Amino acid sequence: MPNMPHRTIHLFRKGFRLHDNPTLLAALESSEVVYPVYILDRKFLMSAMNMGTLRWHFLLQSLEDLQRNLTKLGSCLLVIQGEYELVLRDHVKKWNITQVTLDAEIEPFYKEMERTIQVLGGEMGFDVLSLMGHTLYDIRRILDMNGGTPPLTYKRFLHILSVLGDPDMPVRNLTTEDFQRCKPAPELPLAECYRVPLPEDLEIPRDSQSPWRGGETEGLQRLEQHLKNQGWIANFTKPKTIPNSLLPSTTGLSPYFSLGCLSVRSFFYRLSNIYAQSKNHSLPPVSLQGQLLWREFFYTVASATPNFTKMAGNPICLQINWYQDAERLHKWRMAQTGFPWIDAIMTQLHQEGWIHHLARHAVACFLTRGDLWISWEEGMKVFEEMLLDADYSINAGNWMWLSASAFFHQYTRIFCPVRFGKRTDPEGQYIRKYLPVLTNFPSKYIYEPWTAPEEAQKQAGCIIGQDYPLPMINHKEASDHNLQLMKQVREEQYGTAQLTRDDMDDPMEMGLKRERSEENSKKGKRARNREQT
Ligand code: FAD
Repeated sequence: MPNMPHRTIHLFRKGFRLHDNPTLLAALESSEVVYPVYILDRKFLMSAMNMGTLRWHFLLQSLEDLQRNLTKLGSCLLVIQGEYELVLRDHVKKWNITQVTLDAEIEPFYKEMERTIQVLGGEMGFDVLSLMGHTLYDIRRILDMNGGTPPLTYKRFLHILSVLGDPDMPVRNLTTEDFQRCKPAPELPLAECYRVPLPEDLEIPRDSQSPWRGGETEGLQRLEQHLKNQGWIANFTKPKTIPNSLLPSTTGLSPYFSLGCLSVRSFFYRLSNIYAQSKNHSLPPVSLQGQLLWREFFYTVASATPNFTKMAGNPICLQINWYQDAERLHKWRMAQTGFPWIDAIMTQLHQEGWIHHLARHAVACFLTRGDLWISWEEGMKVFEEMLLDADYSINAGNWMWLSASAFFHQYTRIFCPVRFGKRTDPEGQYIRKYLPVLTNFPSKYIYEPWTAPEEAQKQAGCIIGQDYPLPMINHKEASDHNLQLMKQVREEQYGTAQLTRDDMDDPMEMGLKRERSEENSKKGKRARNREQT
């Protein structure tokens, strides 16, 4: 019936926020009653997303926060455990629902869910409204503008965006007035069966050492804190941030973007305001807006590439005969490689669920083309389980990048598991924090403790090979060998390798070039000064 106000279930899947939430706003504007619902479908979450303990904690914290924030506005969050189709079927009937609203997502498992809901709507007679709120643009517009296919290089992607213009502005924050008209039955929020479960209800270990707490409130606090530092925001240059600082040297906001506790559009426009007030500011690909555009880029390519999270059947990915070696994979995963820099990073990942981008580079390169020659899919799965920001598109996209399977082509540049970390943390403070067993080693041995004389090992209270493993591989030999393998693969599959190739896309390369040219100009100046004196 046209123009009759709806009785709506707003289904949260990501988008756990009350700022810039276009779908929830549309639900409230078109309804006389809105039931804000999260269906906690454990089977779905485990099979589609392989959620590890820290991710569970982050999700439950985010739901609790959403519940508190909705209650403040006079509404509630109804968390219902069970299989999502059955839950919907039941509650549509029970509450006389005429509309289901949900954010449109690009992951195949969420698309499949939306299709099921559409079919259910046809059968049960409710409308389905889905709008995009998780990305800067409606990704379909980017694809259309590029002739129906995804732009496969960042440069081409930026060109398409320049034709499209700026993303839509964020929508206004939701208020008590928005919810006043649309309250579900007052007894509902009190119902015990709708509360957010505790970790122990789900048999998840109770303790989490992660300093990241889930939810919109915490996300907004962190965001505001960063935005106060306008100089830092304006000059942000990704390759110059430090992978082994003891506190994040980048924003650390990814877990909040990943679950939609924060809106990328709001962040984008807050950055634009700061840029507008600065004389100079950094630019994509290395600026902070550039980082959001990398996110958008991977979402766009993932949305229209078959088998994006796999090698087989993925048209942009090199087909590589990776080794299958469960024992080596296990050592990498469990921080037992014998390379302190790699093991410290994997320990931080286990304990906190977040690691710096360049730290991700280091461990991903080590697992794949650098040392172990193990498939990027294996590494991606470990990250998927452990990262708080685990994300279908970004995770797979970056793993393809690091393994030089797609997007990245400077494959001769292999990170050294000893020298990489030393550059920014010569004393090894980061290693000492995450690998306390090595804490008493002198700095000169901290990155390669197996080279320390026996006496030094005894004094450090840690015998290598006994208290901490010997290196699992000879880096020089392995990386030389792998380089030859990679060269061969790329020659054989030249066509695939070219699909995503644009060397200008590589932020590290740009950073290095800039550093080199700055260094050269300094050297030039010093030489000229010497000549003058
Ligand atoms: P900032 O530098 O502050 O950037 C701001 C935001 O931009 C991030 O929060 C993120 O949303 C986005 N962003 C930054 N770098 C990238 C990038 N390279 N690609 C796409 N988006 C980016 N990021 C995820 O969010 N989820 C993942 O599952 C994920 N897996 C990765 C796997 C590997 C092997 C690598 C190398 C990188 C991966 N990244 C992933 C990308 C990147 O490392 C993180 O987004 C970033 O480190 C998060 O920290 P931050 O919020 O401080 O980033």
